[in-house]
Amino acid sequence: MTMMLEYVPTVCPYCGCGCGVHLVVRDGRIIGVEPWKEHPVNEGKNCPKGRNAFEFLYAEGRLERPLVRENGSLQEFSWEKALEMIAERLRDADPGSVGLINSGKLTNEDLYVLQKLARCALKTNNMDNCSRFCHSTTVPALVSTVGSGVMPTSQTDIAQADCILLAGVNVKETYPLIARRIIRAKQRGTRVIVVDPRRTVTAKVLADIHLQLRPGADVALVNAMIKTIAEEGLEDSDFIARRTKGVEELRAYLAAADMDELAEVAGVPVHAIREAARTYARAERGCILYNAGIAQHAAGIGNIQALANLALLTGNYGKPGTGVNPLRGHLNGEGFGDMGPLAVFYPGFAPVNEATAARFERHWGVVGLPSEPGMSYMDMMEKCDVLYVIGANPMASAPDTRRVKALLASKEFLVVQDIFMTETAELADVILPAAAWAEKEGTVTEVDRRVQRIGKTVAPPGEARPDWKVFCELAGMMDAEGDFGYGSAEEVFEEIRRTVPQYAGITYERLERAGGIQWPCPSEDHPGTETMFVGRFATPDGLGHFQVVAYEEPVEMTDEEYPYVLTNGRLIFHYHSGTMSRRTKRLNDEAPSGFVELNTQDARETGIEDGNEVRVKSRRGEIRATARVTDDIRRGMLFMPWHFTESGPNTLTGPCAGPPSKMPEFKFCAARIEAMR
Ligand code: SF4
Repeated sequence: MTMMLEYVPTVCPYCGCGCGVHLVVRDGRIIGVEPWKEHPVNEGKNCPKGRNAFEFLYAEGRLERPLVRENGSLQEFSWEKALEMIAERLRDADPGSVGLINSGKLTNEDLYVLQKLARCALKTNNMDNCSRFCHSTTVPALVSTVGSGVMPTSQTDIAQADCILLAGVNVKETYPLIARRIIRAKQRGTRVIVVDPRRTVTAKVLADIHLQLRPGADVALVNAMIKTIAEEGLEDSDFIARRTKGVEELRAYLAAADMDELAEVAGVPVHAIREAARTYARAERGCILYNAGIAQHAAGIGNIQALANLALLTGNYGKPGTGVNPLRGHLNGEGFGDMGPLAVFYPGFAPVNEATAARFERHWGVVGLPSEPGMSYMDMMEKCDVLYVIGANPMASAPDTRRVKALLASKEFLVVQDIFMTETAELADVILPAAAWAEKEGTVTEVDRRVQRIGKTVAPPGEARPDWKVFCELAGMMDAEGDFGYGSAEEVFEEIRRTVPQYAGITYERLERAGGIQWPCPSEDHPGTETMFVGRFATPDGLGHFQVVAYEEPVEMTDEEYPYVLTNGRLIFHYHSGTMSRRTKRLNDEAPSGFVELNTQDARETGIEDGNEVRVKSRRGEIRATARVTDDIRRGMLFMPWHFTESGPNTLTGPCAGPPSKMPEFKFCAARIEAMR
């Protein structure tokens, strides 16, 4: 008998590109993935992760039933008993002592109901997610310059640029389908500038100009480019006059700066900086794409403001294929900000204050919503007695793992809701099994504000449930004010449309089309917005605001004991902490374990050979890894991928920096490397 195959359209669960896939289903089980040929983002292609995006659903370790710790060991409990236990602890807790850590793997509907539960039932804004560790620098930087922290162009328009500047983003490995567009643009003559201390595969394959700067010296480099453009009259004077303010202060600041000194700090020759500056400034459309290499620094706000200065000075905003574009990592990388499960924003990036709280009190028919900012990720880890972690794994993604473990172990009550038994779940008092992306209905919002639907393709294992339903049940048990009686994910989305103006015109029905709809979409007859800031920026006066940005040294410097700068990044075969990708055989076969890269000459001087087992130490701890000796990394630098928790660089990274971003110095950790004797 021939078995019928079904091809169910959805979105890849990994990176923020949001490629379309068809899940191949037989007898209620996913047996393969095919690229969605008509999908505008990936046009019939997927990277290795996308092509294998299903095996993890059936991997060992899926959570199927609630678990409660009793007498030191985890026991299976009924949903009702486990939820009652959580509801009681949440009800009894002081609002200031409860924190909720969430994730970009959740859907918009999950996240919207979660923040509503926190605000209506717990009366707290203590919420944060791993955007704290990726783009907490992006929002203040881009709000101060252009009024909004979103990606202004569309992925599909990147190829319209005739110069693409890739700053701190190894796009070939981290956003492979965006890299594909850049390759095609290059075939038509687009010039590519790569700014990265490593000669990554992106630099090797895509760069016409590779500026291999010193780690953490981005501001000095970009300021030197701006100085060149100003000195050589390559600015877009008309754009500056019509659409910006503050250029005089920036010009005066940089006129007084010494080009040779900037270049020395940057670690890049003056002639290479000038060539890159001219290439970018002379382009009709210049597109800047950046990610963690720029954003994950304590001084990341300045890095991003400097890039915005560069784009404003050259008129590179308001046209397709231009702007300064933050590449967000997760499947729901934009949505986990939009939905407001954050300490400082209600849904729609409405700032936490009395006026916003009053508006949502009217929306939800409740009183007493919290109007003071809540605690950030690490503050919650340190100060909250009760922590509820949903879809996140701080043991892998937060800095200084040893300290994170001690903090989690010290909680009076730790709840983890996830699809797998993660390193964080192992420390929990109660563990709730969640449905994965292919096991529930919902929407996600990708890197370029692209809202797409994901559909329930297969049943979740055992008793696992969609996250938003769990939050509704908890709200009911806690007698929370506000309506949590949603009958479906679509009903949640209908409420999102009413409370988040950017989503007002988007419906589930409209999202059936390939590629979804990009917000802002104010009405049902609006097609969505591919390009932001056409004619006006999102600042109160509508103008782009230049910011004077000075180079700041990293918060932790090298010394005799720790002479190397350790940085980290991603590989094409894995995703973030590896929870899903390392449970996929084909991906794991390609990249089974962690390693540390060091420069050939450094290796010679330290007596380390390629393939040696080495010890990498920082002021926080030490890990073991296999050495990879290469000329692709600057002298004095080390690089480790961060998917491998057994040799995870976060064991070594330092704590968060100060406000406003509270971003740890992820990309600059003073370290030492030793051969194992
Ligand atoms: Fe999935 Fe990203 Fe690969 Fe596309 S590029 S298939 S979204 S991991």
